[in-house]
Amino acid sequence: MATAQKIGSLLFCPTCGTLLDLPKDSEPNVVCEQCGHEEPATSYENIRITTRSHPDAFPSALRQKRKTQTKTHSDSDTWGDLVSEKCPKCGHLEAYSKAIQTRSADEGSTVFYRCASCMHDWKVNN
Ligand SMILES: [Zn+2]
Ligand SMILES: [Zn+2]
Repeated sequence: MATAQKIGSLLFCPTCGTLLDLPKDSEPNVVCEQCGHEEPATSYENIRITTRSHPDAFPSALRQKRKTQTKTHSDSDTWGDLVSEKCPKCGHLEAYSKAIQTRSADEGSTVFYRCASCMHDWKVNN
């Protein structure tokens, strides 16, 4: 007898492909609404364990993705002192600075600036 196809935490009827409901605790079988195929509730045992330990595995993966896409400017609170630096965009003479050490020693460091007036970001390689 064919058993249901498992895709993620979902089970599909092996006969007609319909998404099967989760079994109720008192019922030994899940009956397909479309074709009447009876799927033993034991088919759900592995899935149930997975579902319990990772209740929102799929949604959190989506959140992760969104976080990566909107990462730009999320570190704005780490900007350092106000220094005399001319903004290339609006010509304002004060900007916040932030130095980032590069991995290679002979490349020196990269200094990032953020205009105190228009918030424009730019960087200067030393
Ligand atoms: Zn079916
Ligand atoms: Zn500016």
